[in-house]
Amino acid sequence: MRIKTQIIATLLSAAALIGLVGGIAIVSQMSLTRSSALAEATSVARQLAAAIAFKATDTPRPLFERPEALREFVTSQHSGSKRDLVVVDRGKIILADVPGEEQNIGTAFDHDGGNEVGRTLDDGEPRDFVESSADVSEAINLVAVPIKDAPGKIVGAVLFEYTPLLRAAQQRTNNMLWLVGLSTAAAVLISAISAFLLLRGFGAGLSGLNRGIESLARGDAGARIGRTSNDEFGLLAQGFDRMASELEASRGQLVEQKAYIEDIVRTVAEGIAVIDGRGRMVSVNPAAADIIGLRNDKIEGQDWPSVLDIRGLSGNRLAQGASPIELALTTGRRHQAEVRLAKPDGSYLPVIASCNPLNRSDGGIVLTLSDIGELRSAERAVSDRAEELSTLNRELKETSQATTRLVKLGELLQACVTFQEAFSVVGSAMPDFFGGLSGTVHLTSASRNLVEEMAHWGAVRSSVGQFAPEDCWALRRGQEHVAGPGMLTPRCNHITENGGRGYVCMPLAAQGETLGIVHLCEPDAADKPDWLAERHQILRGVVDTLALALANLRLRETLRQQSIRDPNTGLYNRRYLEETSSRELRRMERAEQPLAMIMLDVDHFKQFNDTFGHEAGDLVLKQVAATLLDHARESDVVSRYGGEEFALMMPGTSLADGAERAEALRKAIKQLHLAHRGRTLGTITASFGVAAFPELGASWAEIVNAADRALYQAKADGRDRVVVGLGKAHADRHQAKASKTLA
Ligand code: GH3
Ligand code: MG
Ligand code: MG
Repeated sequence: MRIKTQIIATLLSAAALIGLVGGIAIVSQMSLTRSSALAEATSVARQLAAAIAFKATDTPRPLFERPEALREFVTSQHSGSKRDLVVVDRGKIILADVPGEEQNIGTAFDHDGGNEVGRTLDDGEPRDFVESSADVSEAINLVAVPIKDAPGKIVGAVLFEYTPLLRAAQQRTNNMLWLVGLSTAAAVLISAISAFLLLRGFGAGLSGLNRGIESLARGDAGARIGRTSNDEFGLLAQGFDRMASELEASRGQLVEQKAYIEDIVRTVAEGIAVIDGRGRMVSVNPAAADIIGLRNDKIEGQDWPSVLDIRGLSGNRLAQGASPIELALTTGRRHQAEVRLAKPDGSYLPVIASCNPLNRSDGGIVLTLSDIGELRSAERAVSDRAEELSTLNRELKETSQATTRLVKLGELLQACVTFQEAFSVVGSAMPDFFGGLSGTVHLTSASRNLVEEMAHWGAVRSSVGQFAPEDCWALRRGQEHVAGPGMLTPRCNHITENGGRGYVCMPLAAQGETLGIVHLCEPDAADKPDWLAERHQILRGVVDTLALALANLRLRETLRQQSIRDPNTGLYNRRYLEETSSRELRRMERAEQPLAMIMLDVDHFKQFNDTFGHEAGDLVLKQVAATLLDHARESDVVSRYGGEEFALMMPGTSLADGAERAEALRKAIKQLHLAHRGRTLGTITASFGVAAFPELGASWAEIVNAADRALYQAKADGRDRVVVGLGKAHADRHQAKASKTLA
């Protein structure tokens, strides 16, 4: 039932209830009216009866017994108090009546149809009745009350007419009826008015709310009731308006969020497709259309297998039910796999297909396609790069190992004192550098007309041991020379065979001088075109190191030679002689071997110089030196002792043998035929002094002194002769004798 109807019904019920209560009150009042009027009338009638029976002290008899006074009393009651009454005696005979009815006095009262008066006279009980009379137009209500004398005996009755009382009571009742009626009417009216007002207010409020709710239901988020009253509808309306505002705001946010999400879906690089529970493509974003290779309208609404050709990683077709889409659709669980997407143009695109089931009763999935083509090629690039890096690393490592080896080689070579040592180091170190390749180091001789092998390593001999410098292109041109199969460069003449082998000759150049070559050979050059490129850097390092070391060695040798040799004659100098002599002396001492010493001085050399010039003098010194070297053994040390004076140390030679050797030298010098610039220089002679260990001394100084003294003696004895030294005692004696002679 509608609220309006309910309100009306409620109000009407209230009004009806008020009417009903009023009606009941009226009905009960009406019944009460009669009885109360009767009671009142009975009471008045009893008072009248008592008054009539009463005998006052100033009167001889009561009114009842005095007819005249009784009539006056009744008349006075009628005129004074407007009470109508009839008094009857015990026999129902009327004793007094109201004025105008006096003719009834003396007659029996018979207007009680039921003999109510007679019965009251009998039992003394008051009774009411309606007077029944032909001449009476309206019913008169009477009550009969007994009159009792002093002992209480019923002597008559008062018939009291109570119609006026009844009327008055009825009047009061009528008034009340009116009051109730009016009240009821007023209540109904008020109810109606309130109902009207209530309904109007209620209806307006409700219809406002209704309108608001209906427009909201229609989707009009701007719907507002706009009721500002302070009643419940006002509060409801305000609540509704607030709710509608919040709804509008959140709808706005929703719209914004939706637009935002749509924007993301539209612009995201991943392909996103929605597939419904029956496997139909519902929607795809531009990226998905791009990845699939079809336009959106060619995809949407189609069954997925007709637009998505999903293959395995090698491009093979997948077994029925094995694709992640089928798996996700059938199991309702998430499935993801890397697959190949066969595109309409025949290409295969590597993608990761993720299928996430939708939370809907009709199933369906969201398919995400991530193009990992670039990723895969980037991975390939990374792995290629990693491989390159590892190669580089390996090469670097090799290079670093080679560098370490190179440094070590440099150190070893620096430590070498002789070329022999250096080349033995080279011979053993090279195989490490060139991993199995054979090669040689050739040096150009001092005369620059011969190139000689100094070191060789490896199993192959690809160069002759000795050749002329012009047989090598590297030496000819002063730069690296490479030849091998398929190369147009000429092959060097020092190479022992032609054809398959590849080789390189690299000049050993240092301090502006070419010392020789390093030669390296690859027997399988035809199969290994990179053989040299791989080793070129190392080879260059080795060559530079070696060249520098050899140049240093040569320099060192030169310096050493310069420091121990006399530049004019090439003989050892006096310092060298003294350095070696002590050592040799010790050695001979240990070996219990003799050591002979010859000192010689060119005779009259000053004169010779003066005659032929200094240059000729030098020539003579050279010739004498050469003669000394010619006659020396390998272990002998031939030295220029100073000026035109020479010394020979002969380890293992006795004093006697030394004297013999001196004699042989004297003869040889004397036989020299000397010429300078076409001029014969004449004969040269020299004087010799010979001494020896152990006969003439244990120390080098003693032996030198002995030899020197012997030489001095030879000069003194006339030059061009050999004098064998004497012991110190003998010498002292000789000295004394000489002094005496001089004196
Ligand atoms: P004696 O027979 O007594 O030895 O007479 P001497 O003239 O040989 O001896 P002296 O000591 O008087 O002269 C040595 C000369 O040797 C002096 C010097 O000019 C010469 N002389 C020394 N060294 C050289 C040199 O290297 N070249 C040349 N040409 N002459 C030199
Ligand atoms: Mg001299
Ligand atoms: Mg001399």
